[in-house]
Amino acid sequence: MSSKEKIIQLVDAKKDFFAKVSDDVWATPELGFLEFESAKTLMNALEQQGFTVEKGLAGIETAFKGTWGSGKPVISFLGEFDALPLVSQQASCNVKMPVEEGGNGHGCGHCNLGAGSMAAATALKEYMQENNLPGTVVYFGCPAEESGCGKTFMAREGVFDDVDIALTWHPGSTNSVWGISSLANIIVEFYFKGVTSHAAASPHLGRSALDAAELMNVGVNFLREHVIPEARIHYAFRDVGGGAPNVVQDSAMVLYFIRAPKTEQVMEIYPRVVKCAEGAAHMTETELTVEIKTALSDYIPNDVVSQAMSDSMLELGPIEFSDEAKAFAKEMYKSLSEADIKSGIGSLKSYMPADVAVKRVEEAIIPDVFPYKRLPIHMPGSTDVGDVSYVVPTAQLSAATAIIGTPGHSWQQTAQSKSILAHEGLTYAAKVMALTGVKFVENPDLVVKAREELNGVTGGVYNCPIPKHVLPKP
Ligand SMILES: [Zn+2]
Repeated sequence: MSSKEKIIQLVDAKKDFFAKVSDDVWATPELGFLEFESAKTLMNALEQQGFTVEKGLAGIETAFKGTWGSGKPVISFLGEFDALPLVSQQASCNVKMPVEEGGNGHGCGHCNLGAGSMAAATALKEYMQENNLPGTVVYFGCPAEESGCGKTFMAREGVFDDVDIALTWHPGSTNSVWGISSLANIIVEFYFKGVTSHAAASPHLGRSALDAAELMNVGVNFLREHVIPEARIHYAFRDVGGGAPNVVQDSAMVLYFIRAPKTEQVMEIYPRVVKCAEGAAHMTETELTVEIKTALSDYIPNDVVSQAMSDSMLELGPIEFSDEAKAFAKEMYKSLSEADIKSGIGSLKSYMPADVAVKRVEEAIIPDVFPYKRLPIHMPGSTDVGDVSYVVPTAQLSAATAIIGTPGHSWQQTAQSKSILAHEGLTYAAKVMALTGVKFVENPDLVVKAREELNGVTGGVYNCPIPKHVLPKP
């Protein structure tokens, strides 16, 4: 039996187990660093599959790992499991119907992500056991991908230091290996403290924190013209000092995301944003406090690992979706807006001619595999997988667990995250990752090549963008 056939057999034997793990995590949607139930579900599953579990990594209660085996190579799988606010939705349902009004939901499919990566780790472990192969398999339970940057804190504390290869995936609408980078990001809170007063009777005695925050934003809006065009700076008011216009506001807080293609570029822009805040505080005679909440690095695709992952995907071929999955996809398609469908067509255009893309979108699911292509572009978002990719040669695939055109972070995604489509997609992702793991366990030279490539890019240096004094917080 070939390694491909063996991996298919091993993953298929436990597909119902891991579909249930995914569904159980789906049922307890928890936000970053608060994923206590989800982490428990995953740690129990790891123990049941024969891994030794260690929790509380990097001082984070919901960060954990499961280890099997010993010695080199150390092949790791990254699992995520945090949910999003406001996208609560009934499973497999194509009309908007929250489980809990305003509640959390798995609108990014991280329940599938955590379970699929564990299915891969388990299959690789069993393959190594059957073939008496040396090495270690590690599953990392990584909390708070959405906003807390759990992996960046874990990387800062050296959690990934002894790892040779990192494999991960993300639920999506196509099967492809990531050949693009992502944006580095720093997330910063700016607090202004002023003096309250009667806004009509004694305005001269008040010092407005809200004015300060507004002036800071005006400053940053001008700054935008003088930063690199790829930078993205956005803000949200978190505190406006109350709702009364006749009381001078003595507190305000603005939360900023400062993004750019490389971490160094973010670190150049960040002090300039701070200057805008300082200027605003000076103008308004208010007090400024700046607090970095978290940060993350850009993603560096490792060609050696990504190519091995792409080869594994091509060996496995397209996903053979069941008739039940295809029928569900057609039903789900009815929930998409015209704009969603257009964006689905847009996402297929890099793989096929435009007229073909238009037709294929109507089929709702895209089982095809698209080989690895390294492109000199970045996706307009961020992921804390970036920090792992600075420390360990890393590859990441997208696997089809949802219909094409599904908006990101949406109720439609939550609906599909517990569905036949997600189960079949996560099973497929597990096969691709496990087969990739086999290639590195059986070819130690490949492990060396991947490390050489990473060292060539980083010089073996990783500077964590989160300062040492910053602690993870929800
Ligand atoms: Zn996600």
